[in-house]
Amino acid sequence: MRKTFLPFSPPLIGEAEVREVVDTLHSDWITTGPKTRAFEKAFARYVDAPSALALNSCTAGLHTALLALGVGAGDEVVTTPMTFAASVNVIEHVGARPVLVDVEADTLNLDPDKVAAAVGPKTRAVVAVHYAGHPVELDAIRGLAEADGLALIEDAAHALPARYKGQCIGSGDNAASFSFYATKNMTTAEGGMLTGSPELLEQARVVALHGMSRNAWNRYDEKGSWYYEVMMPGFKYNMTDIQAAIGLHQLDRLEGFQRRRREVVAAYHEGFGDMEALELPVERREVESAWHLYVLRLRPGRLRIGRDAFVRELGERNIGASVHFIPIHLHPFYRDKYGYTPDDFPVAFSNYERMLSLPLNPRLSDEDVADVIEAVRDIVTHHAR
Ligand SMILES: *Cc1c(COP(=O)(O)O)cnc(C)c1O
Repeated sequence: MRKTFLPFSPPLIGEAEVREVVDTLHSDWITTGPKTRAFEKAFARYVDAPSALALNSCTAGLHTALLALGVGAGDEVVTTPMTFAASVNVIEHVGARPVLVDVEADTLNLDPDKVAAAVGPKTRAVVAVHYAGHPVELDAIRGLAEADGLALIEDAAHALPARYKGQCIGSGDNAASFSFYATKNMTTAEGGMLTGSPELLEQARVVALHGMSRNAWNRYDEKGSWYYEVMMPGFKYNMTDIQAAIGLHQLDRLEGFQRRRREVVAAYHEGFGDMEALELPVERREVESAWHLYVLRLRPGRLRIGRDAFVRELGERNIGASVHFIPIHLHPFYRDKYGYTPDDFPVAFSNYERMLSLPLNPRLSDEDVADVIEAVRDIVTHHAR
């Protein structure tokens, strides 16, 4: 058995990031400045985005997108229960009603047929989450949104980088929000990036910085650079150059990170492929997953152990595991406000009960990966039915 604890998802920060942060601290720009602008440009180039806006979180990006699109009180927004609370909290923040629909059994992503069935006269937008880094069925969901005049907002927190039919997630004109939280595929400690058309991001820039309009600077040129106008009570969501300093170098290293993630995924697939008690994560033919998470699902008929005990036993073997996610409709706020019961979204609920996420990050050595495989196989063998 492994001697030291293997953490689930530690960050991988190099000396280049450290030097760039120190350089930033020695410069005159510590908050939003040249490094943030350079990071936006580099990021947009990387995901082939029409335009990019650096913010202090993915949550801020989702909230900003909803506001920039004018989604608010009386509106409905269709989204998934199989996500982190942030994706749905922002819908509450703008005063709209989240309408949850169930997910597809293989990818655990939004089911386009269920989205179609949930669209009504009040529906204004769809928030589509690329769960675990596997893109949603974008053609179907885009088609629906276009047919019904809905805005599409992608929660791309896990989807850096991911492709759907050859196109990078984030390359569309619609809003897509990425996360650089400490556990994500690349990090700035806290941070996010909103991509979309230049017109949309022009609105978003105003929303995300106090509602201050920079266009005013052009329109009232003779007043000089001190002049601005507040167009709405906006938010304070800008990224700092200290964060961007980290992001610039993380982005440079992302291809390498992804190569290692895919090697680990291949080793897990190989290591678990013969175990009937385990259902392995899929990657559909038309996509390239970002492999943010490796989500195993237990087959209860084949095991005398449940998910909670399985995660505990992994911990006892010094392997950090986690669960993504506790479905939104089980959380007290949403359960009580909308009167949900667990079986309202049976695919999300039944899969939640048997899922766990294994360590998947570029810091894993071959020995670490072998330790995880050995621990999982050992637990399955001990508790096989
Ligand atoms: C992490 C995460 C977010 C929030 O990202 P922050 O950058 O921490 O705001 C949103 N959605 C999903 C699916 C996430 O996993």
